[in-house]
Amino acid sequence: MSLLAHPAEDPADSRTYLLNNSTADRYRTAVTDGVARISGRIAATDRPFTGISVDGLTPAVDAVDLDTPLHDPAAALDELEEVYLRDAVYFHHPRYLAHLNCPVVIPALVGEAVLSAVNSSLDTWDQSAGGTLIERRLIDWTARRIGLGEAADGIFTSGGSQSNLQAMLLARDETCRRELARTTTPDDTRLAGLLPRLRILASAAGHFSIRKSATLLGLGAEAVIAVPTDEHRRMRTTALAAELERCRREGLIPMAVVATAGTTDFGSIDPLPEIAELAARHGAWMHVDAAYGCGLLVSRRRELLTGIERADSVTVDYHKSFFQPVSSSAVLVRDRTTLRHVTYHADYLNPRRMAEQRIPNQVDKSLQTTRRFDALKLWLTLRIMGAEAVGELFDEVIDRAADAWKLLHDDPRFDVVVAPQLSTLVFRYVPADDPDPELSDRVNLHAREALFASGDAIVAGTKVDGRHHLKFTLLNPETTLDDIATVLDLIAEHAGRYLAARPRPALSAR
Ligand SMILES: *Cc1c(COP(=O)(O)O)cnc(C)c1O
Repeated sequence: MSLLAHPAEDPADSRTYLLNNSTADRYRTAVTDGVARISGRIAATDRPFTGISVDGLTPAVDAVDLDTPLHDPAAALDELEEVYLRDAVYFHHPRYLAHLNCPVVIPALVGEAVLSAVNSSLDTWDQSAGGTLIERRLIDWTARRIGLGEAADGIFTSGGSQSNLQAMLLARDETCRRELARTTTPDDTRLAGLLPRLRILASAAGHFSIRKSATLLGLGAEAVIAVPTDEHRRMRTTALAAELERCRREGLIPMAVVATAGTTDFGSIDPLPEIAELAARHGAWMHVDAAYGCGLLVSRRRELLTGIERADSVTVDYHKSFFQPVSSSAVLVRDRTTLRHVTYHADYLNPRRMAEQRIPNQVDKSLQTTRRFDALKLWLTLRIMGAEAVGELFDEVIDRAADAWKLLHDDPRFDVVVAPQLSTLVFRYVPADDPDPELSDRVNLHAREALFASGDAIVAGTKVDGRHHLKFTLLNPETTLDDIATVLDLIAEHAGRYLAARPRPALSAR
Protein backbone atom coordinates (compact mmCIF):
# COMPACT_ATOMS: atom_id res chain seq x y z
CA MET A 1 0.00 0.00 0.00
CA SER A 2 1.27 3.42 -0.90
CA LEU A 3 1.97 5.89 1.88
CA LEU A 4 0.83 8.76 -0.26
CA ALA A 5 -2.05 10.38 1.56
CA HIS A 6 -3.32 12.02 -1.57
CA PRO A 7 -2.93 9.58 -4.44
CA ALA A 8 -4.42 12.18 -6.76
CA GLU A 9 -1.24 14.21 -6.29
CA ASP A 10 1.51 13.62 -8.76
CA PRO A 11 4.43 11.98 -6.92
CA ALA A 12 6.80 13.55 -9.41
CA ASP A 13 5.61 17.03 -8.45
CA SER A 14 8.41 18.20 -6.21
CA ARG A 15 6.21 20.68 -4.33
CA THR A 16 4.13 17.89 -2.79
CA TYR A 17 7.18 16.89 -0.73
CA LEU A 18 7.49 20.18 1.12
CA LEU A 19 5.98 20.29 4.59
CA ASN A 20 3.51 23.17 4.81
CA ASN A 21 -0.11 23.89 5.62
CA SER A 22 -1.41 22.00 2.61
CA THR A 23 0.79 18.90 3.11
CA ALA A 24 0.56 18.53 6.90
CA ASP A 25 -1.68 15.45 6.58
CA ARG A 26 0.66 13.85 4.16
CA TYR A 27 3.54 14.50 6.55
CA ARG A 28 1.62 12.85 9.37
CA THR A 29 0.88 9.75 7.30
CA ALA A 30 4.41 9.39 6.03
CA VAL A 31 6.02 9.82 9.43
CA THR A 32 3.42 7.69 11.23
CA ASP A 33 4.00 4.86 8.77
CA GLY A 34 7.75 5.25 9.17
CA VAL A 35 7.40 5.17 12.96
CA ALA A 36 5.17 2.08 12.71
CA ARG A 37 7.95 0.31 10.82
CA ILE A 38 10.65 1.15 13.27
CA SER A 39 8.50 0.31 16.28
CA GLY A 40 7.72 -3.06 14.70
CA ARG A 41 11.40 -3.60 14.02
CA ILE A 42 12.39 -2.68 17.56
CA ALA A 43 9.70 -4.93 19.04
CA ALA A 44 10.89 -7.87 16.94
CA THR A 45 14.65 -7.49 17.50
CA ASP A 46 15.89 -10.67 19.15
CA ARG A 47 19.61 -9.89 19.05
CA PRO A 48 21.63 -6.69 18.93
CA PHE A 49 23.04 -7.37 15.46
CA THR A 50 22.81 -9.82 12.60
CA GLY A 51 26.58 -10.17 12.43
CA ILE A 52 26.74 -9.11 8.79
CA SER A 53 30.19 -8.23 7.46
CA VAL A 54 31.27 -5.10 5.59
CA ASP A 55 31.58 -7.13 2.41
CA GLY A 56 28.20 -8.70 3.01
CA LEU A 57 26.38 -5.38 3.28
CA THR A 58 28.26 -3.14 0.88
CA PRO A 59 26.81 -4.53 -2.39
CA ALA A 60 23.22 -3.82 -1.32
CA VAL A 61 24.07 -0.20 -0.45
CA ASP A 62 26.12 0.27 -3.59
CA ALA A 63 23.33 -1.15 -5.76
CA VAL A 64 20.93 1.66 -4.88
CA ASP A 65 20.63 4.08 -7.79
CA LEU A 66 20.51 7.49 -6.15
CA ASP A 67 19.56 9.14 -9.43
CA THR A 68 16.37 7.09 -9.81
CA PRO A 69 13.91 8.01 -7.06
CA LEU A 70 11.16 5.61 -6.03
CA HIS A 71 8.51 8.33 -5.54
CA ASP A 72 7.00 6.13 -2.87
CA PRO A 73 7.84 6.28 0.86
CA ALA A 74 6.72 2.68 1.42
CA ALA A 75 9.03 1.40 -1.29
CA ALA A 76 11.89 3.50 0.07
CA LEU A 77 11.30 2.06 3.54
CA ASP A 78 11.24 -1.46 2.09
CA GLU A 79 14.60 -0.73 0.54
CA LEU A 80 15.83 0.74 3.84
CA GLU A 81 15.03 -2.56 5.54
CA GLU A 82 17.55 -4.21 3.24
CA VAL A 83 20.32 -1.65 3.39
CA TYR A 84 20.04 -0.55 7.02
CA LEU A 85 17.27 -1.57 9.39
CA ARG A 86 17.63 -5.35 9.15
CA ASP A 87 21.34 -5.25 9.96
CA ALA A 88 21.60 -2.17 12.14
CA VAL A 89 23.21 -2.36 15.58
CA TYR A 90 20.44 -2.01 18.15
CA PHE A 91 21.47 -0.31 21.38
CA HIS A 92 18.16 -1.06 23.09
CA HIS A 93 18.90 -4.78 23.08
CA PRO A 94 19.93 -6.08 26.54
CA ARG A 95 22.97 -7.86 25.12
CA TYR A 96 24.39 -4.73 23.51
CA LEU A 97 27.18 -4.14 26.03
CA ALA A 98 29.82 -2.35 23.98
CA HIS A 99 30.15 1.42 23.84
CA LEU A 100 28.65 4.39 25.67
CA ASN A 101 25.40 4.18 23.71
CA CYS A 102 22.20 4.23 25.67
CA PRO A 103 18.70 3.04 24.99
CA VAL A 104 16.69 6.23 24.47
CA VAL A 105 13.68 7.49 26.42
CA ILE A 106 10.42 7.96 24.55
CA PRO A 107 9.77 11.58 25.65
CA ALA A 108 13.03 12.54 23.92
CA LEU A 109 11.87 10.85 20.72
CA VAL A 110 8.73 12.95 20.77
CA GLY A 111 11.04 15.94 21.09
CA GLU A 112 13.10 14.68 18.16
CA ALA A 113 9.98 14.56 15.96
CA VAL A 114 8.95 18.06 16.98
CA LEU A 115 12.33 19.68 16.61
CA SER A 116 13.01 18.34 13.14
CA ALA A 117 9.56 19.26 11.83
CA VAL A 118 9.64 22.83 13.13
CA ASN A 119 13.35 22.88 12.27
CA SER A 120 14.29 25.84 14.44
CA SER A 121 17.91 26.83 14.19
CA LEU A 122 19.31 27.95 17.48
CA ASP A 123 21.95 30.32 16.21
CA THR A 124 19.77 33.38 16.51
CA TRP A 125 16.63 34.53 18.26
CA ASP A 126 15.08 35.39 14.90
CA GLN A 127 15.35 31.71 13.87
CA SER A 128 14.12 30.13 17.07
CA ALA A 129 12.43 32.45 19.60
CA GLY A 130 11.16 30.10 22.36
CA GLY A 131 13.73 27.50 21.35
CA THR A 132 16.47 29.85 22.48
CA LEU A 133 14.74 30.44 25.81
CA ILE A 134 14.23 26.72 26.37
CA GLU A 135 17.89 25.98 25.65
CA ARG A 136 18.95 28.72 28.04
CA ARG A 137 16.70 27.37 30.80
CA LEU A 138 18.26 23.90 30.38
CA ILE A 139 21.77 25.34 30.49
CA ASP A 140 20.84 27.18 33.70
CA TRP A 141 19.24 24.02 35.09
CA THR A 142 22.36 21.97 34.39
CA ALA A 143 24.70 24.66 35.74
CA ARG A 144 22.63 24.79 38.93
CA ARG A 145 22.78 21.00 39.33
CA ILE A 146 26.55 21.26 38.97
CA GLY A 147 26.68 24.21 41.37
CA LEU A 148 28.61 26.57 39.10
CA GLY A 149 27.15 29.74 40.61
CA GLU A 150 25.25 32.76 39.40
CA ALA A 151 27.63 33.80 36.62
CA ALA A 152 27.46 30.43 34.86
CA ASP A 153 26.43 29.87 31.27
CA GLY A 154 27.01 27.40 28.46
CA ILE A 155 25.77 26.07 25.16
CA PHE A 156 24.46 22.85 23.65
CA THR A 157 26.98 21.14 21.36
CA SER A 158 27.11 18.17 19.02
CA GLY A 159 28.87 15.98 21.56
CA GLY A 160 31.52 15.63 24.21
CA SER A 161 34.35 16.06 21.73
CA GLN A 162 33.07 19.45 20.64
CA SER A 163 32.38 20.42 24.25
CA ASN A 164 35.94 19.51 25.20
CA LEU A 165 37.31 21.42 22.21
CA GLN A 166 35.38 24.54 23.15
CA ALA A 167 36.45 24.25 26.79
CA MET A 168 40.12 23.96 25.76
CA LEU A 169 39.71 26.94 23.43
CA LEU A 170 38.35 29.07 26.27
CA ALA A 171 41.12 27.87 28.58
CA ARG A 172 43.75 28.72 25.96
CA ASP A 173 42.39 32.19 25.29
CA GLU A 174 41.88 33.02 28.97
CA THR A 175 45.42 31.89 29.70
CA CYS A 176 46.87 33.92 26.83
CA ARG A 177 44.89 37.00 27.85
CA ARG A 178 46.21 36.71 31.40
CA GLU A 179 49.80 36.07 30.34
CA LEU A 180 49.81 38.94 27.83
CA ALA A 181 48.30 41.32 30.38
CA ARG A 182 51.42 40.82 32.47
CA THR A 183 53.50 42.84 30.04
CA THR A 184 53.03 46.46 29.08
CA THR A 185 53.27 45.83 25.34
CA PRO A 186 51.07 42.91 24.43
CA ASP A 187 51.45 42.05 20.79
CA ASP A 188 51.00 39.18 18.40
CA THR A 189 54.62 38.08 18.34
CA ARG A 190 54.48 37.49 22.07
CA LEU A 191 51.32 35.47 21.55
CA ALA A 192 53.16 33.30 19.03
CA GLY A 193 55.87 32.71 21.62
CA LEU A 194 53.28 31.80 24.22
CA LEU A 195 51.46 28.98 22.44
CA PRO A 196 54.32 26.43 22.42
CA ARG A 197 54.65 26.80 26.20
CA LEU A 198 51.03 25.97 27.00
CA ARG A 199 50.33 22.62 28.64
CA ILE A 200 47.16 20.67 29.36
CA LEU A 201 47.32 18.10 32.16
CA ALA A 202 44.90 15.21 31.87
CA SER A 203 44.77 11.71 33.25
CA ALA A 204 46.33 8.92 31.21
CA ALA A 205 42.83 7.40 31.20
CA GLY A 206 41.27 10.64 29.88
CA HIS A 207 39.53 10.99 26.52
CA PHE A 208 41.48 11.27 23.26
CA SER A 209 39.46 14.32 22.24
CA ILE A 210 41.62 16.39 24.60
CA ARG A 211 44.72 15.54 22.53
CA LYS A 212 42.79 16.17 19.33
CA SER A 213 41.67 19.54 20.70
CA ALA A 214 45.24 20.51 21.56
CA THR A 215 46.28 19.81 17.99
CA LEU A 216 43.31 21.67 16.51
CA LEU A 217 44.07 24.63 18.76
CA GLY A 218 47.60 24.88 17.45
CA LEU A 219 49.26 23.66 20.63
CA GLY A 220 50.61 20.40 19.27
CA ALA A 221 49.84 16.93 20.57
CA GLU A 222 52.82 17.14 22.94
CA ALA A 223 51.00 19.92 24.79
CA VAL A 224 48.98 17.30 26.62
CA ILE A 225 50.74 15.77 29.60
CA ALA A 226 49.30 12.38 30.56
CA VAL A 227 49.19 12.19 34.34
CA PRO A 228 49.50 8.62 35.66
CA THR A 229 46.56 6.96 37.38
CA ASP A 230 46.27 5.03 40.63
CA GLU A 231 45.09 1.43 41.08
CA HIS A 232 41.47 2.59 40.57
CA ARG A 233 42.47 4.33 37.30
CA ARG A 234 41.94 7.78 38.84
CA MET A 235 44.38 10.58 38.30
CA ARG A 236 47.19 10.47 40.87
CA THR A 237 47.13 13.90 42.45
CA THR A 238 50.69 13.55 43.73
CA ALA A 239 51.75 13.03 40.12
CA LEU A 240 49.64 16.00 39.03
CA ALA A 241 51.30 18.18 41.67
CA ALA A 242 54.73 17.03 40.49
CA GLU A 243 53.89 17.76 36.84
CA LEU A 244 52.58 21.21 37.71
CA GLU A 245 55.83 21.91 39.57
CA ARG A 246 57.85 20.65 36.64
CA CYS A 247 55.95 22.99 34.30
CA ARG A 248 56.80 25.90 36.57
CA ARG A 249 60.49 24.94 36.73
CA GLU A 250 60.73 24.56 32.95
CA GLY A 251 58.97 27.82 32.16
CA LEU A 252 55.89 26.04 30.78
CA ILE A 253 52.39 27.35 31.39
CA PRO A 254 49.77 24.91 32.73
CA MET A 255 46.80 26.28 30.82
CA ALA A 256 44.30 23.64 31.92
CA VAL A 257 43.90 20.68 34.19
CA VAL A 258 41.34 18.24 32.82
CA ALA A 259 39.67 16.01 35.38
CA THR A 260 37.55 13.17 34.06
CA ALA A 261 34.33 12.32 35.88
CA GLY A 262 33.81 8.89 34.41
CA THR A 263 36.64 7.73 32.17
CA THR A 264 35.44 6.02 29.01
CA ASP A 265 37.05 2.68 29.80
CA PHE A 266 36.88 2.41 33.56
CA GLY A 267 34.22 4.89 34.63
CA SER A 268 36.79 6.19 37.09
CA ILE A 269 36.18 9.59 38.63
CA ASP A 270 39.28 11.66 39.24
CA PRO A 271 39.60 13.18 42.75
CA LEU A 272 37.84 16.43 41.91
CA PRO A 273 38.34 18.42 45.16
CA GLU A 274 42.11 17.80 45.24
CA ILE A 275 42.43 18.58 41.55
CA ALA A 276 40.46 21.81 42.02
CA GLU A 277 42.84 22.75 44.81
CA LEU A 278 45.95 22.13 42.69
CA ALA A 279 44.52 23.87 39.62
CA ALA A 280 43.67 26.93 41.70
CA ARG A 281 47.11 27.00 43.30
CA HIS A 282 48.79 26.99 39.89
CA GLY A 283 46.32 29.35 38.23
CA ALA A 284 45.21 26.71 35.74
CA TRP A 285 41.74 26.46 34.24
CA MET A 286 39.93 23.43 35.63
CA HIS A 287 37.86 21.49 33.14
CA VAL A 288 35.77 18.49 34.18
CA ASP A 289 34.99 16.05 31.40
CA ALA A 290 31.74 14.54 32.70
CA ALA A 291 30.62 13.27 29.29
CA TYR A 292 29.93 9.90 30.86
CA GLY A 293 29.49 10.73 34.56
CA CYS A 294 27.00 13.58 34.11
CA GLY A 295 24.09 11.24 34.85
CA LEU A 296 25.25 11.34 38.48
CA LEU A 297 23.88 14.90 38.60
CA VAL A 298 20.38 13.39 38.81
CA SER A 299 21.21 10.13 40.62
CA ARG A 300 21.23 9.14 44.27
CA ARG A 301 25.02 9.02 43.94
CA ARG A 302 25.34 12.77 43.33
CA GLU A 303 28.09 12.97 45.98
CA LEU A 304 30.47 11.12 43.67
CA LEU A 305 30.71 14.41 41.76
CA THR A 306 31.63 16.50 44.79
CA GLY A 307 34.17 19.07 43.67
CA ILE A 308 32.71 19.49 40.19
CA GLU A 309 31.19 22.77 41.37
CA ARG A 310 34.70 24.24 41.43
CA ALA A 311 35.26 23.69 37.71
CA ASP A 312 35.77 26.52 35.23
CA SER A 313 34.10 24.41 32.58
CA VAL A 314 32.25 21.11 32.41
CA THR A 315 31.38 18.76 29.54
CA VAL A 316 28.11 16.84 29.82
CA ASP A 317 26.81 14.31 27.30
CA TYR A 318 23.09 13.91 27.74
CA HIS A 319 23.30 11.36 24.92
CA LYS A 320 25.19 9.04 27.24
CA SER A 321 23.87 8.92 30.80
CA PHE A 322 20.65 10.94 30.34
CA PHE A 323 19.29 8.38 27.84
CA GLN A 324 18.90 10.97 25.07
CA PRO A 325 19.20 10.28 21.35
CA VAL A 326 22.36 11.47 19.60
CA SER A 327 23.12 14.40 19.56
CA SER A 328 22.62 16.03 22.91
CA SER A 329 25.54 17.51 24.77
CA ALA A 330 26.61 20.75 26.40
CA VAL A 331 29.59 22.67 27.68
CA LEU A 332 29.05 24.75 30.82
CA VAL A 333 31.26 27.55 32.13
CA ARG A 334 31.55 29.12 35.55
CA ASP A 335 32.07 32.64 34.14
CA ARG A 336 29.83 33.54 31.21
CA THR A 337 32.16 36.31 30.07
CA THR A 338 34.71 33.69 29.01
CA LEU A 339 32.37 32.66 26.19
CA ARG A 340 33.27 35.91 24.42
CA HIS A 341 36.28 34.08 22.99
CA VAL A 342 33.93 32.43 20.49
CA THR A 343 31.86 35.57 19.80
CA TYR A 344 32.08 36.92 16.26
CA HIS A 345 29.60 39.32 14.74
CA ALA A 346 28.25 39.05 11.20
CA ASP A 347 26.16 41.83 9.75
CA TYR A 348 23.67 39.44 8.21
CA LEU A 349 23.22 37.35 11.33
CA ASN A 350 24.05 38.72 14.72
CA PRO A 351 25.26 42.32 14.45
CA ARG A 352 26.80 43.88 17.52
CA ARG A 353 23.79 46.13 18.00
CA MET A 354 21.67 43.06 18.78
CA ALA A 355 23.91 42.19 21.70
CA GLU A 356 23.52 45.78 22.90
CA GLN A 357 19.74 45.42 22.62
CA ARG A 358 20.09 42.23 24.69
CA ILE A 359 18.60 40.05 21.97
CA PRO A 360 19.77 36.52 22.83
CA ASN A 361 21.69 35.06 19.90
CA GLN A 362 23.11 31.72 20.95
CA VAL A 363 25.59 31.74 18.05
CA ASP A 364 27.54 34.26 20.12
CA LYS A 365 28.48 31.36 22.43
CA SER A 366 28.86 28.51 19.97
CA LEU A 367 31.43 27.01 17.61
CA GLN A 368 28.55 26.10 15.30
CA THR A 369 26.29 28.46 13.35
CA THR A 370 23.17 26.62 12.17
CA ARG A 371 22.41 24.36 15.08
CA ARG A 372 19.78 21.78 15.98
CA PHE A 373 17.30 22.37 18.79
CA ASP A 374 18.56 19.28 20.62
CA ALA A 375 17.66 20.87 23.93
CA LEU A 376 13.99 20.15 23.24
CA LYS A 377 14.56 16.43 23.79
CA LEU A 378 15.89 17.01 27.28
CA TRP A 379 13.11 19.54 27.95
CA LEU A 380 10.36 17.01 27.17
CA THR A 381 12.24 14.35 29.13
CA LEU A 382 12.28 16.55 32.22
CA ARG A 383 8.68 17.69 31.69
CA ILE A 384 7.28 14.21 31.12
CA MET A 385 9.32 11.77 33.21
CA GLY A 386 11.44 14.06 35.35
CA ALA A 387 15.11 14.23 36.28
CA GLU A 388 14.91 11.77 39.15
CA ALA A 389 13.45 9.10 36.86
CA VAL A 390 16.46 9.55 34.57
CA GLY A 391 18.74 9.25 37.59
CA GLU A 392 17.01 6.01 38.63
CA LEU A 393 17.82 4.48 35.26
CA PHE A 394 21.48 5.42 35.62
CA ASP A 395 21.59 4.18 39.21
CA GLU A 396 20.18 0.86 38.08
CA VAL A 397 22.98 0.23 35.59
CA ILE A 398 25.58 1.24 38.18
CA ASP A 399 24.04 -1.28 40.60
CA ARG A 400 24.09 -3.92 37.87
CA ALA A 401 27.77 -3.27 37.15
CA ALA A 402 28.59 -3.81 40.83
CA ASP A 403 26.80 -7.19 40.75
CA ALA A 404 28.44 -8.11 37.46
CA TRP A 405 31.83 -7.32 38.98
CA LYS A 406 31.21 -9.93 41.70
CA LEU A 407 30.26 -12.41 39.00
CA LEU A 408 33.45 -11.74 37.07
CA HIS A 409 35.64 -11.59 40.14
CA ASP A 410 34.51 -15.07 41.23
CA ASP A 411 34.85 -16.53 37.74
CA PRO A 412 38.24 -18.25 37.26
CA ARG A 413 37.95 -17.90 33.47
CA PHE A 414 38.38 -14.13 33.68
CA ASP A 415 40.56 -11.41 35.18
CA VAL A 416 38.77 -8.16 35.90
CA VAL A 417 40.83 -4.96 36.07
CA VAL A 418 39.09 -2.79 38.68
CA ALA A 419 35.87 -2.68 40.65
CA PRO A 420 33.54 -0.36 38.73
CA GLN A 421 32.82 3.18 39.91
CA LEU A 422 30.16 3.67 37.25
CA SER A 423 28.89 1.05 34.80
CA THR A 424 31.82 -0.37 32.85
CA LEU A 425 33.78 -3.57 33.40
CA VAL A 426 37.15 -4.19 31.78
CA PHE A 427 38.25 -7.81 31.89
CA ARG A 428 40.13 -10.48 30.05
CA TYR A 429 39.71 -14.16 29.36
CA VAL A 430 42.69 -16.11 30.65
CA PRO A 431 43.38 -19.54 29.17
CA ALA A 432 43.48 -21.96 32.10
CA ASP A 433 46.47 -24.02 31.01
CA ASP A 434 48.63 -21.37 29.38
CA PRO A 435 49.41 -18.05 31.04
CA ASP A 436 51.21 -16.63 27.97
CA PRO A 437 49.88 -13.04 27.74
CA GLU A 438 50.28 -12.93 23.94
CA LEU A 439 48.11 -15.97 23.60
CA SER A 440 45.55 -14.32 25.85
CA ASP A 441 45.69 -11.20 23.63
CA ARG A 442 44.85 -13.28 20.58
CA VAL A 443 42.14 -15.23 22.37
CA ASN A 444 40.39 -12.08 23.56
CA LEU A 445 40.62 -10.39 20.16
CA HIS A 446 39.19 -13.49 18.56
CA ALA A 447 36.40 -13.92 21.10
CA ARG A 448 35.25 -10.35 20.59
CA GLU A 449 35.26 -10.61 16.81
CA ALA A 450 33.55 -13.99 16.80
CA LEU A 451 30.87 -12.72 19.16
CA PHE A 452 30.28 -9.68 16.94
CA ALA A 453 30.05 -11.88 13.86
CA SER A 454 27.51 -14.10 15.62
CA GLY A 455 25.33 -11.10 16.46
CA ASP A 456 24.39 -12.75 19.78
CA ALA A 457 25.94 -9.96 21.80
CA ILE A 458 28.27 -7.01 21.30
CA VAL A 459 31.09 -6.19 23.69
CA ALA A 460 33.87 -3.64 23.32
CA GLY A 461 37.60 -4.11 23.39
CA THR A 462 40.35 -1.91 24.74
CA LYS A 463 43.96 -2.13 25.78
CA VAL A 464 45.12 -2.03 29.37
CA ASP A 465 48.84 -1.65 29.92
CA GLY A 466 49.37 -2.78 26.33
CA ARG A 467 47.23 -5.91 26.67
CA HIS A 468 43.97 -6.64 24.85
CA HIS A 469 40.96 -6.65 27.14
CA LEU A 470 37.22 -6.83 26.72
CA LYS A 471 34.80 -4.24 28.02
CA PHE A 472 31.16 -4.18 29.04
CA THR A 473 29.55 -0.77 29.09
CA LEU A 474 26.22 -1.11 30.86
CA LEU A 475 23.71 1.61 30.06
CA ASN A 476 20.61 -0.50 29.66
CA PRO A 477 18.60 -1.17 32.83
CA GLU A 478 16.94 -4.05 30.95
CA THR A 479 20.25 -5.92 30.90
CA THR A 480 19.98 -8.55 33.63
CA LEU A 481 22.70 -10.38 35.49
CA ASP A 482 21.56 -13.45 33.54
CA ASP A 483 22.24 -11.64 30.27
CA ILE A 484 25.72 -10.82 31.52
CA ALA A 485 26.36 -14.42 32.62
CA THR A 486 25.16 -15.62 29.22
CA VAL A 487 27.53 -13.27 27.40
CA LEU A 488 30.44 -14.41 29.59
CA ASP A 489 29.65 -18.01 28.65
CA LEU A 490 29.53 -17.06 24.96
CA ILE A 491 32.91 -15.34 25.25
CA ALA A 492 34.36 -18.40 26.99
CA GLU A 493 32.94 -20.66 24.28
CA HIS A 494 34.49 -18.63 21.46
CA ALA A 495 37.76 -18.49 23.36
CA GLY A 496 37.69 -22.23 24.00
CA ARG A 497 37.04 -22.98 20.36
CA TYR A 498 39.95 -20.77 19.33
CA LEU A 499 42.26 -22.48 21.80
CA ALA A 500 41.17 -25.94 20.66
CA ALA A 501 41.76 -25.07 17.00
CA ARG A 502 45.11 -23.36 17.36
CA PRO A 503 48.15 -25.18 16.01
CA ARG A 504 50.09 -26.59 18.91
CA PRO A 505 53.82 -27.15 18.91
CA ALA A 506 54.72 -30.82 18.55
CA LEU A 507 55.26 -32.56 21.88
CA SER A 508 58.90 -33.25 21.15
CA ALA A 509 59.54 -29.55 20.65
CA ARG A 510 58.32 -28.63 24.14
C1 LIG B 1 32.29 9.84 24.98
C2 LIG B 1 33.28 10.70 25.64
C3 LIG B 1 33.72 11.88 25.05
C4 LIG B 1 33.35 12.25 23.63
O1 LIG B 1 32.00 12.53 23.51
P1 LIG B 1 31.27 12.42 22.10
O2 LIG B 1 29.87 12.79 22.44
O3 LIG B 1 31.42 11.00 21.65
O4 LIG B 1 31.94 13.38 21.18
C5 LIG B 1 34.56 12.70 25.76
N1 LIG B 1 34.97 12.35 26.99
C6 LIG B 1 34.58 11.21 27.59
C7 LIG B 1 35.09 10.89 28.97
C8 LIG B 1 33.73 10.34 26.93
O5 LIG B 1 33.36 9.19 27.52
